[in-house]
Amino acid sequence: MKYDFIIIGSGIIGLTLAYKLKKTKSNAKILILEKEYNSIQHGSGRNSGVIHSGIYYDPGSLRATLGMQGGIELKEYIKTKKLWIDECGKILIPISIHSNDNTENLYQRGIQNGVMVKKLSHKEIQQLEPNVNIQYDTGLLIPFTSVADPKEVSNSLINDLKDLGVQIIYNQEVKKITDEGKTVSTDQNNYFCDHSFNCSGLQSDVVAKNAGLEFRYSFLPFKGKYWKITNSNFKLKHLIYPIPDLRYPFLGLHTSHKKDGSFYIGPSSTPVLGRELYNSECNFKLNEAISLALSFGLKILKNENKLRSLAIQEAKLITKNGFFNEVKKLINNVSKENLKPSLEKVGIRSQIFDPQSKTLVNDFVVINQKHSTHVLNAISPAWTASFAFADHLIKLAKI
Ligand SMILES: Cc1cc2nc3c(=O)[nH]c(=O)nc-3n(C[C@H](O)[C@H](O)[C@H](O)COP(=O)(O)OP(=O)(O)OC[C@H]3O[C@@H](n4cnc5c(N)ncnc54)[C@H](O)[C@@H]3O)c2cc1C
Repeated sequence: MKYDFIIIGSGIIGLTLAYKLKKTKSNAKILILEKEYNSIQHGSGRNSGVIHSGIYYDPGSLRATLGMQGGIELKEYIKTKKLWIDECGKILIPISIHSNDNTENLYQRGIQNGVMVKKLSHKEIQQLEPNVNIQYDTGLLIPFTSVADPKEVSNSLINDLKDLGVQIIYNQEVKKITDEGKTVSTDQNNYFCDHSFNCSGLQSDVVAKNAGLEFRYSFLPFKGKYWKITNSNFKLKHLIYPIPDLRYPFLGLHTSHKKDGSFYIGPSSTPVLGRELYNSECNFKLNEAISLALSFGLKILKNENKLRSLAIQEAKLITKNGFFNEVKKLINNVSKENLKPSLEKVGIRSQIFDPQSKTLVNDFVVINQKHSTHVLNAISPAWTASFAFADHLIKLAKI
């Protein structure tokens, strides 16, 4: 059978793309090929579940435009489907002199991006969240930011797609794409289509290379580990984030919470020697580890994009003491004994590096060809942006 569209990867980008393709062309025959046994083994099942406002990103960038539109659509979808959402809002506070200096920049960026953001005084922060560690006399409030359950969203989309006649086949790892994108091959089968979409997250660059694509980017995975806050009486009304260093695509350790009322703090941004190396027991590949160690090592030695400073900062988070010292900069009602590493809540970012500018790529990257489209660098806030990201891909592919 020939399909109109084949989507590689059933993370949030693949699922929302199939959903929007069906809305655009209701009779389209769509197949999703997924290498895992479900859709939530990687980024889309391992993130903070935060629906971002779009404040952080360069005005006009894909992260800003798709992030903002996508956030509105994701909220609408969640509410229509009656899924869990906590529209709690977020408070950002400076946690160092450098971060304090960035507060005004971030505020202005938010205004430029059209985000509703309010400056807070010491007293206002204290009134809103008495347990925030206020070191500087300022903070920002973003009412739009919310938390939802990423697994619930993926499962709901899968049910919708079944109803819409989209076929998802699990345990099918795409090994090769030929015929300009029109033949997609796994170990078990060849599948044929008019247009294929590579939405394979952490493997997107590998899949793109297996489609014969040439590009200058290299892949640099960063692991995000969370710690669970175990005090039974711990409570925050808002998400609490630091004012980040806008040179990096990372937001810094922040709080997050789940539907069951459990609270977490994370994620770290530690270089990791495996694109799916969530813990040391799984998915260790020696060749991959050597090549990533060399790649990270050289960049850290040369301090490209200040990666050495980042590595030093992140190294502190590996020990419980180091992690706790960072947590204390943000909130003051947690003791070291009440922090427990979360084994299930560990994610790895699909981050690419640009050797030309010698920087971590700070926006989504899409390479579009006549019969195939490749999504590279679907970093945060791609979960928030996904519905709008899907429209963007459909437009690029001229469907
Ligand atoms: C720690 C962390 C926290 C984050 N927090 C947030 C947040 O709060 N808010 C937000 O908006 N974003 C957040 N993000 C980002 C967000 O999770 C990702 O941007 C998003 O999930 C990317 O979705 P995806 O579909 O591209 O990738 P994935 O979810 O990784 O999906 C890709 C799929 O492709 C499959 N695949 C790979 N290779 C193949 C192959 N060869 N053949 C077939 N299938 C294949 C994989 O198995 C996987 O299921 C976070 C990310 C991390 C790591």
